[in-house]
Amino acid sequence: MATRICFTGKFKETCEYGRKGNLWKSGYHGGTDLVGLDSEKVYSVCNGTVERAGYDNGGFGNYVRIKEDNSEKRIYLAHLSKIYVKAGQKVTYTTVVGLMGDTGNTTGKHTHVEIREFKNGVAVKKLNASDYMGIPNKVGEYNSSDYQIGNSSSTTNITQIKQKVFAVNTNIRETPGLNGIAHLYLPGTTVNILEENVANIDGYTWDKVESVVTGRVGYVARTDTRYK
Ligand SMILES: [Zn+2]
Repeated sequence: MATRICFTGKFKETCEYGRKGNLWKSGYHGGTDLVGLDSEKVYSVCNGTVERAGYDNGGFGNYVRIKEDNSEKRIYLAHLSKIYVKAGQKVTYTTVVGLMGDTGNTTGKHTHVEIREFKNGVAVKKLNASDYMGIPNKVGEYNSSDYQIGNSSSTTNITQIKQKVFAVNTNIRETPGLNGIAHLYLPGTTVNILEENVANIDGYTWDKVESVVTGRVGYVARTDTRYK
């Protein structure tokens, strides 16, 4: 069994992808920050080939850039204290590429995981690194054993998180119940089911969900037609 997460065992997510703020030139956090609690070994989060391994003056410090097999995605693992791989080397989920550190532009020891989609050799957009690793895009403490993937040679985005797709217009509410502040999501929206049947309010059973795209966490009234 393997995971798509750069740490094994307990780890902390200290800053989620997409957080807005002046700390970042782009105005938002382009990756996900994780701190390994059980181990400082940083694993490749994919099967691929190392393209760069060295020091970046732009803020990443010691970092590794990996090209995912059969895709144009590049994975950046930044702020490492040590690098164990070289450009050109093949890696898998279970390859240790370095050790967590605080090199480059950081306020403490952590690993910044960033995913960039490339086109014709140029980065065109940043993807949600939490989604990529199959973990909640939310500050908190987690354990990699809860987020295993079935097949370590898989290059698809299969995770153990239960996902459902809205079949109809759906409000994700900030609190369970019809009085909770509502955010409308359209049919086709994919959500991670964080917890089912968290409450029975206003005649509905409520599920706690997280939008895969926006990371919004909230509550959805379960109906027969809610999910596809
Ligand atoms: Zn970061």
